[in-house]
Amino acid sequence: MGGFKFKKDHLEWEKSANLERVNEKERMFDLLIHDLTSPLSVVSTTADNLLQKSDRYGVLTDQQKRMLDRISRNVHKAQKLLQEMIEILRSEEGIFQKEFFSIEDTVRESFMDALETTLPHAAEKLFQSKSYEEFQGILHTHHIFIEMTGRYCTSPFCHDQKKIRQILRNLMSNALKYRRERMGVAISGEMDLLVSVEDDGIGIPAEEQEAIFKRFVRLNDKRHAHVQGLGLGLAGVKTLVEAMGGNITLESQENVGSRFIVRIPPIPT
Ligand code: ADP
Repeated sequence: MGGFKFKKDHLEWEKSANLERVNEKERMFDLLIHDLTSPLSVVSTTADNLLQKSDRYGVLTDQQKRMLDRISRNVHKAQKLLQEMIEILRSEEGIFQKEFFSIEDTVRESFMDALETTLPHAAEKLFQSKSYEEFQGILHTHHIFIEMTGRYCTSPFCHDQKKIRQILRNLMSNALKYRRERMGVAISGEMDLLVSVEDDGIGIPAEEQEAIFKRFVRLNDKRHAHVQGLGLGLAGVKTLVEAMGGNITLESQENVGSRFIVRIPPIPT
């Protein structure tokens, strides 16, 4: 009898603990969406207005322009990070924006996002490129290679494009940050979308390969000391990929390079 009561109490406790976790998550969602999104957007619009509307707000000195530029750049960074966190939370709640979209275009957009922080000059050139061939040519000069085979060269993919772009951008940024010379992206797959992102960088030691997918982990390695980051990226990528019913694997060898392989099934139509 006592055992049963214990079990019942325990179940009650577990229920309320679960409820608390859900409430906690909802509070976090609210905080991110309402309480952080609007003040950030006010800061960003104000800085942009001051920079662009001198007829209304007065002419700025060069030093003031530089400082406002800095505010604007950093607030955009914070907005992007916030957007990424919201997408991760949405995916954990099973919220997806189903649409058909081109994988080639998504790869292109993700590269521009990733290069904006690692090679801004290349990103600017890519932005102005007029054809896919020109786009590829610019990437080749920076030792970046794209290979597209399989069904999604021509057929649209059905999923949440924002989330796919976030996955690609994170993997591409890492490959660009940690490569020695080259990095490449290969797209394939006939039903599930397969993406491989590889680089010829310092690699990840076998004993640390599991840890890098956990939140806030940065490898405790002096070779990485010059590379900035929050240690949020790969944990977020794994959460997104798994919420999409896919998986992510890593093949890496120290001083040879790393290859991340992602498999994502389409949302059934
Ligand atoms: P961040 O890059 O912001 O630190 P990530 O979650 O993207 O966070 O990566 C976690 C850690 O995994 C990085 O700090 C780095 O040590 C390691 N890592 C990720 N990608 C690579 C890569 N392509 N080559 C070598 N190390 C990597």
